Amino acid sequence: MPQPHLRTRSKKQIKTTVPGGKTKTHYKKEKTSTALCFLCKKPLSGIPRLDATETRKLNYTKKRIWRLYGGKICPKCLKDAIKQAARALA
Ligand SMILES: [Zn+2]
Repeated sequence: MPQPHLRTRSKKQIKTTVPGGKTKTHYKKEKTSTALCFLCKKPLSGIPRLDATETRKLNYTKKRIWRLYGGKICPKCLKDAIKQAARALA
């Protein structure tokens, strides 16, 4: 019987043969999904692909991109959005 915290389907199970010849199940933590641009759905660069516990340990400046809508919109979409807003004013 696996340990209580391993009794879940969210962890990837890998069957491996141990040196003794027995087949055992190893539990692997799944990686969190990448941050995506909410306009074009392309993956964002500069956002670390870590879970909440590991993200908490990072420096304040390494958790996000220090730009307007950084970590939410990719630079290309932001550029287009700013252009559109400027055109709407003129
Ligand atoms: Zn985008």
